[in-house]
Amino acid sequence: MGSAALAEAAKSIRDWSIENGKTSVGPSKAAELFGSLVFNDKEQKARLPKTAYNALRATITRGEPLDISTADAVATALKEWAVEHGATHYTHWFQPLTGITAEKHDSFLAPTNDGSAIAEFRGKELIKGEPDASSFPSGGMRSTFEARGYTAWDPTSPPFLMYTANNVTLVIPTAFVSWTGEALDKKTPLLRSMEAVSKQAVRVLKLFGSSAERVFATCGPEQEYFLIDRNFYFARPDLINAGRTLFGAAPPKGQEMEDQYFGSIPERVLACMTETEAELYKIGVPVKTRHNEVAPSQYEIAPVFENANVAADHQLMIMELLKKIAPKYGLAALLHEKPFAGVNGSGKHNNWSLSDEFGNNLLGPGDTPHDNMQFLVFCAAVIRAVDKWQGLLRVSVAHAGNDHRLGANEAPPAIISIFLGDMLTDIFDQVEKGGGAKSTKQGGVQDLGVSVLPKLPRDAGDRNRTSPFAFTGNKFEFRAVGSTQNIAWPNTILNVAMADSLEYVANELEAKAKGEDLNKAVAKLLVKIIKEHKRIIFNGNNYAPEWEKEATRRKLLNHKNTVDALGEFVKPEAVKLLERFKILNARETHARYEVFLENYNKTINIEGQLAVLMANRYILPAALEYQKQIGQSVAAVKAGGGTTASGKKLLGAYTKLVDKFQAQTSALQTALLHESNGNAEKHARYMRDKVVPAMAKLREVGDEIEVLTPHEIWPLPTYREMLFVK
Ligand code: ADP
Ligand code: MG
Repeated sequence: MGSAALAEAAKSIRDWSIENGKTSVGPSKAAELFGSLVFNDKEQKARLPKTAYNALRATITRGEPLDISTADAVATALKEWAVEHGATHYTHWFQPLTGITAEKHDSFLAPTNDGSAIAEFRGKELIKGEPDASSFPSGGMRSTFEARGYTAWDPTSPPFLMYTANNVTLVIPTAFVSWTGEALDKKTPLLRSMEAVSKQAVRVLKLFGSSAERVFATCGPEQEYFLIDRNFYFARPDLINAGRTLFGAAPPKGQEMEDQYFGSIPERVLACMTETEAELYKIGVPVKTRHNEVAPSQYEIAPVFENANVAADHQLMIMELLKKIAPKYGLAALLHEKPFAGVNGSGKHNNWSLSDEFGNNLLGPGDTPHDNMQFLVFCAAVIRAVDKWQGLLRVSVAHAGNDHRLGANEAPPAIISIFLGDMLTDIFDQVEKGGGAKSTKQGGVQDLGVSVLPKLPRDAGDRNRTSPFAFTGNKFEFRAVGSTQNIAWPNTILNVAMADSLEYVANELEAKAKGEDLNKAVAKLLVKIIKEHKRIIFNGNNYAPEWEKEATRRKLLNHKNTVDALGEFVKPEAVKLLERFKILNARETHARYEVFLENYNKTINIEGQLAVLMANRYILPAALEYQKQIGQSVAAVKAGGGTTASGKKLLGAYTKLVDKFQAQTSALQTALLHESNGNAEKHARYMRDKVVPAMAKLREVGDEIEVLTPHEIWPLPTYREMLFVK
């Protein structure tokens, strides 16, 4: 059967090549495609009355509230535009806490008295939808009598058209809240955090003489993923239902040859990427980079950075379209953090920075001394934010899938720390010693022109791939984010942590700047921040065991699994922070905590049940078959008068493994009987301590059986096939 899937895979590659040979589609003009399905600024300008256009821009760029007459005008123009493109339906697209997106489609058509129908869509329908919320997780925030949930249009993320087989749908990005206004999704807190960080950043900018009125968090997320032949995918219940393999022996060739990273992209894969990129282009996602990743059959796709809210919506579309388009090429896209044990997992490097409304990057060391001082202040604020809120940052990447990655050998460890690079570290060292630095390590040097501040290099230069949070020249890269994650959540936490730091900075400087020279006040504050928070800076190898010891000495957090990490979410200081900046109130935080725990419990339960199913219905029958074959062979040899010693030895060893496998299957099955009884936290600890290890033990024996069992009776595609047949 392993060979059946292999034969199908070979056939699908051949068919694809033949098809492709016949229909060579010429390269499309990216510039023409880009945003062609988006109700973007150009369309808004062309189609809206001037006053409505100006009001909408004020909402988008300055966050001003939108009035109903503007909404009506936008709805009319939007509907006309969509219908011209063949749209029959619209959907309020939202991001419930399940981690995927949701949509409810409504028709534009409304019946009229004379029995016909007209296309109708008003401001009311644009700005508010009412999906039945009762089946989405709310962490107990909604009892049945308050089951209503509303979707509210997010005017800062432009609507777009989605083409599917027989339909064109207008997609309206929305926030999802309960009828009492509590957030039930991932977009609402992100939007709130963008407000919070903007407000505090503007205060700090003012001190440096800026006239900026708004600051935006910017984000460029790099998505890692696997593409494998979909015949293999369909032959693996674990990939279909858990997104990762629960069994599978390591192949003779893994990633040790290091011949995959940036290697040439297989043709079928490239064709799939090209179509995905073209579709993303049409809906305005500025995809820029594609390449092979470290593991076999692993790839990366990354857009150019955007406003973090739009980037989060676009990132979700990247994941959706990867999954949707792969099957057209006979492929399956695997977005899980660890689809295959023993080779690299997938992350989502979340490049993050702040930019003012004029497009100035606040974490880019600028060209003038004035900019540089401001840069050091923002950079110090990040250092403080990450140190102070390392627990929440760890929470923002904690889920069952990422447990396979964080702390494993290729991914950043579970300890949050910052890589600054030698040059920037040197600068901050000099700052700490009291300013007046006379030299930098290397590179072009800029004189700040302020005697109390050190000189600043133009380029932070070096890189460190092992750090969970690295400064990469003009932005920070949060690398601990998992490949399946909605980046809205980690960015929410980054923003609120930064809002807290900037508030602190603004408070300190606003008070001091009055009596004292601002430069001196800044220098003093930088020294203070560095002294208090430098423990979070680590430029060395984050995988080294010594780092773990050193981190303990520095009293940094080291939560190795989701269950431990989530505890940080409900600590009083975390709850207070989220409440103070109006990101989540205490009720929303606790509700989310419950949802996260339940997600963990459900994930582990599904994996456990699947492992038992695969053990009983796939692996054990194959093993018993081979056991029988060895037995028959020994009997035949004996009847023929031959020596049976080696046959008996094999039978003995194999039988022992099969017995062990059966015992371990029962042990897992028993462990899975545990019930939560309304205590998700206790249940999660049980799942982590009993079920996860039982699954690992079962797998170990299953994989031992695999390498002894004949290929033709092995019921599952192997790692060698899945990873190397392209
Ligand atoms: P690499 O990290 O591999 O060097 P790049 O430097 O091109 O790659 O950046 C990776 C991602 O970081 C891209 O999505 C890029 O747009 C994004 N990025 C660059 N500048 C910023 C910024 N100021 N804010 C947020 N993301 C940024
Ligand atoms: Mg990068």
